[in-house]
Amino acid sequence: MAAYTRSMQELIDHFKKMPGIGAKSAERMAFYVLKAPKQDMEKFSAVIKKVKDSVKFCKKCGNLSEEELCTICSDARRDKGIVCVVEEPKDLIVIEKSGQYKGTFHVLLGSIAPLDGIGPEDLRIKELLSRVKEDKVREIILATDSDAEGETTALYLSKELKPFKVKMSRLAYGIPVGGNLDYIDQATLIRALEGRQAV
Ligand SMILES: [Zn+2]
Repeated sequence: MAAYTRSMQELIDHFKKMPGIGAKSAERMAFYVLKAPKQDMEKFSAVIKKVKDSVKFCKKCGNLSEEELCTICSDARRDKGIVCVVEEPKDLIVIEKSGQYKGTFHVLLGSIAPLDGIGPEDLRIKELLSRVKEDKVREIILATDSDAEGETTALYLSKELKPFKVKMSRLAYGIPVGGNLDYIDQATLIRALEGRQAV
């Protein structure tokens, strides 16, 4: 176990903390750092520092931002009355890339996952509810993932938002082509059935 130098072991341990990185990959990454040109790795560490220093979450929507408000929230041309709810900033980017959406977003920064100990109070749901009141939101599009956690989250939100009487809809994922009903998890099936109408 003590075969590596202390700083190499430290680097491996840092990589191991990254999502989806196991011990073997962490080792490979550490050796990549060791062998790569010094200036490349100096640039890399400077980029990490810059991200940590300047990138934060938008106070309003939870999107990545270098200011208090992200570029979408501070854009007067975006319709503040329409809010698309997504799990992560990367989901927002997918919808933005389509160029079709002119409303605003709300990033939950996760989904309800009881098995991982993540409950509604760990997500940016309170912020969403206060936004609905403050910004006079008239339409909410629930665009959480179509997996069990995403479905649970959408269901929870639709119940929480019901008293506000806003128009609600769920992004239509549907049953995958060739998807065998037996193999589709229950939450997806229920949503596919209910998805025929706006929520
Ligand atoms: Zn924002």
